[in-house]
Amino acid sequence: MNKKEREIILNRKLKYYTKKGIEILSIFTIGASFMTVIVCIKYKPTYKVTISGEKVGYIENKKDFEDEIKEKLINSNEKQENIDTLVYNEPQYELSLVSRDENSNGEEIAEKVKEEAEITYKYYEIALSNVPIDSVNTLQDAEELVKEIKEEEKTQTQNLDLSIIEKYTETPEEIVTNEMQVAKEHVTSKVAEKIVADQKAKEEQERINAMPVVNGIRLASLPVKGTISSRFGESSSLRKSTHTGLDIACPTGTPIKVTSEGTVTSASYSGSYGNLVKVSHGNGIETWYAHTSKMYVKPGQKVKAGDVIAAVGSTGNSTGSHLHLEIRINGVAVNPQKYLYK
Ligand SMILES: [Zn+2]
Repeated sequence: MNKKEREIILNRKLKYYTKKGIEILSIFTIGASFMTVIVCIKYKPTYKVTISGEKVGYIENKKDFEDEIKEKLINSNEKQENIDTLVYNEPQYELSLVSRDENSNGEEIAEKVKEEAEITYKYYEIALSNVPIDSVNTLQDAEELVKEIKEEEKTQTQNLDLSIIEKYTETPEEIVTNEMQVAKEHVTSKVAEKIVADQKAKEEQERINAMPVVNGIRLASLPVKGTISSRFGESSSLRKSTHTGLDIACPTGTPIKVTSEGTVTSASYSGSYGNLVKVSHGNGIETWYAHTSKMYVKPGQKVKAGDVIAAVGSTGNSTGSHLHLEIRINGVAVNPQKYLYK
């Protein structure tokens, strides 16, 4: 074989192998493309979502999913305005190929995130003398409301005790707030009620202060209103000694109010006194209420001035319906007219 012939053979071999190479490459490329198509038909690129290391599902679109979470946690939250702090577990994403049979469950995951989120809500109570009256959503509303009412009521009362109490809760149902103007009307009416009540209390205190004192015990209430039918110290054919009390005639059943705070020491039928209630007020002072038709108290019972303890009657040594009232200092009867029924 000469040189020329060898070159021809080499050329042919080269052409042959090049052709073979191209054929193999083509087959490989076609195969790879074919496999890619198969993979794409069977699988889809998806985000695997994990929360605190736990796989919770798949989503296709990260932005849509994050919007969904925001919608559930904030936008669709009825108490959105009251959210103070919002803590939730951030989902982690991992891009992966997942079978097309696997459905994405973004809404379900978002719901889970919402359920596990810790939301603290804040609102503001308006209190009058520390009694909560109404609530508003924002501090600005609360401050505005208090300021306006204080200015409006300035002429009525110098020291209007209105306060703002910041309230926190994790239970949105607890938040019962009103629009600022509605709350303002509510608080204003309570302020008006309080001004009237304070005035009444002041008058009542003045009335009590004007009542007499016996041995340091304030007689704060008249037992009954009626006509004096027999005075202290009078003699009568009805009794052996002089009269130890004051008789006030009034209809049977008239409520008898205890003169002062104290403790009932006796409430029973007692000879000529009939049904007799005795109340001890301290400092050796006792008041007695005799001839009653009904007794409403029991020994040992605490009473406040003005409490109804019995009803007027005519039991025991009595000729008609009246209250026999005695005031005793260390056991000695004194003239009730020195103190009451002047
Ligand atoms: Zn009497």
